[in-house]
Amino acid sequence: MMSASIAVLVVAAGKGERAGGGLPKQYRPVLGMPLLALSVARVRRALPDARVICVIGADDSATYAAAMGENPPQWVIGGATRQLSVLAGLEAFDAWSPEIVLIHDAARPLGIERTAPALLAAIAQGGFDGAAPALPVVDSLRRREGDAFTPASRADLWRVQTPQAFRFAPILAAHRAAAGQGGLTDDLQVAEHAGLKITLVEGDERSMKVTEAADFDRLTGLLLAERGDIRVGHGYDVHAFGPGDAVTLCGVRVPHTAGLAGHSDADVGLHALTDAVLGAIGAEDIGAHFPPGDARWKGAASDAFLRQAASLVTARDGVVAHVDVTLVCEAPKVGPHRAAMTARIAEILGLSQDRVSVKATTTEKLGFTGRREGIAAYATATVRLPS
Ligand code: MG
Repeated sequence: MMSASIAVLVVAAGKGERAGGGLPKQYRPVLGMPLLALSVARVRRALPDARVICVIGADDSATYAAAMGENPPQWVIGGATRQLSVLAGLEAFDAWSPEIVLIHDAARPLGIERTAPALLAAIAQGGFDGAAPALPVVDSLRRREGDAFTPASRADLWRVQTPQAFRFAPILAAHRAAAGQGGLTDDLQVAEHAGLKITLVEGDERSMKVTEAADFDRLTGLLLAERGDIRVGHGYDVHAFGPGDAVTLCGVRVPHTAGLAGHSDADVGLHALTDAVLGAIGAEDIGAHFPPGDARWKGAASDAFLRQAASLVTARDGVVAHVDVTLVCEAPKVGPHRAAMTARIAEILGLSQDRVSVKATTTEKLGFTGRREGIAAYATATVRLPS
C-alpha cells in the first residue's frame, strides 16, 4: 500500500468566523504557526510521499501565500459550500489520478500521524472504498423534546473525524454526482450516497476540531504538552545614538532627538531578542546569520532577523513560548510605546500578547546609557522543543 500514489486534500476554504479575531481561523497563528500551516506540516510528516493540495477561499490567495512560507502546497479556489470545495480539489487531482485521496479539514491539525496508517490499511487490506476515523461517544446524552431533556442512548453513536480516505476515482465520481445536493455533511456521506463501501477506523482524541476561540487555547496546550524540552536563551545588544529624529525599538518607530547608528535599522530590542531565540537553540548569534558587512541587511527592518530565528525553531518542530525584552535608556520614554511594541513582537512571532513582555529601565544616569550615548537591550526567549 505504501507504494500507492496518495493525494491529500486539505480543505481550508471556510470563513471560520466563529473563532473571532478578524482572520479566517485557518490563518490564525498558534504558537507561531498559522493553523493551516500546522495542519499541512503534520500531513507532510505523516505522509511524506503524498501530494498535497489546499482548497482556499476566493479572497484568500494573498493570505495563503503569507501564511504558508517556503514550499507551500499547490492551491485551488473552493466553492460556496464545503462539498463544492472538496469537488474543486478533487478535480485538480484528476489529471494525475492518484490511487488514494485523503480529504482533511485544516481545522484538525493533530492526530493524522496515527489515523492515516489505519485508514490506508482499511482500504488496502479491508477492501473498502472509503474509511474515516471515529471515536465512540462517552458522555451521557440527552435529547431535547420541547422543554424537557430526555435520556438518549449513546451506545451506537460515534464521532467522525478527518482525514477521510477514499479510492480516488470512485470518490471523484460520487462528488460529481452529488454536486449541488445538500445535507451530506462529510465525504463519507457522499461516498455512502453513491453506494460505495465504507468503514470506520479508530480515531484520535487529540484530533480536535478548532472551531471556537477557546479551541485555540486547548490546541496551544496540546502543542506545549508535546514539547517538554524547555530551553531559555538570552540576548544582549547595544547601539550608539547618531544623527536622526527617531529610533526603531521592538519594531516601533519612536520619535527622538537622535537616531541609532547601525548597519540595519539598529533595532536594539529586536536584535537582543533575535539573539535570545538563537541562543535557546544553540544556533550561534545574529552576526553569524546576518553579517553586518552584507549589503542585503543595510537599512533592513530587523523583524526579518527575528522571523528567521523563529523559523529555525519551527524547523526543529519547536515553538517560541514566551519572550521578555528590557530596554535600557534615559530617553526616549518607552512607556507610551510599550503596548505597540508588545503587539508588534506578538505579530512577528505569531504569539498571543500574553506571551510577550516589553519592559524599560534607566540606569540612574550612570554609565553609557545614563550619559545618553546609546540604548542597550536585554532579552530572554523560552523555547520548547519536542521531548
Ligand atoms: Mg545590533
